[in-house]
Amino acid sequence: MELTPTSTIDLDDGLEWEDIQATSETNDLINQVKALGDPTIGDRKIDLIYVKKINTSDPFGAYGAAVPDFATVSPWMWDENHTRTCIFGSTSTSGNFPLSNRPFATAHEMGHVLTNHGHYAVDYSMNETNQQAFYNLMRGGGTSTTNSVYSSKRLWPNNLAEEDQIDMIRTATDIPQE
Ligand SMILES: [Zn+2]
Repeated sequence: MELTPTSTIDLDDGLEWEDIQATSETNDLINQVKALGDPTIGDRKIDLIYVKKINTSDPFGAYGAAVPDFATVSPWMWDENHTRTCIFGSTSTSGNFPLSNRPFATAHEMGHVLTNHGHYAVDYSMNETNQQAFYNLMRGGGTSTTNSVYSSKRLWPNNLAEEDQIDMIRTATDIPQE
């Protein structure tokens, strides 16, 4: 569905985003998307929003960003009604890399919402072994640019990691498992 944002939002120059707290432009955009909600689904569904570019102070730039349930806890302070949202830029902040070169970006951002966790081996209480972080869908610093057996596209079950990412998807939120 294509949204025509109100005049409070100017997406031509990119969406203004901060990692810790939403900007007024990001808040306005998410408000308008959540207001489109189908009442038979409820307002706790996952929304994917695609914009031209995400402007962020993150030196690595951003192709995508997610607002998982944990983002309502200090220091993030996001509105609970804005969680379960993923936003994607069609290029990185620098404008260099198209989203089409990031085949796992959508799954990665949805993974933040579904696991309600941050990046593997960074925000997990685990010891990294056998390069599990490198091949993980939820690695930090950007997902793989091509699809191969070496790509960052794996979630680890319990026998390979101290924290079971498959179990997280089933239990870390109350998103229906149907
Ligand atoms: Zn991430």
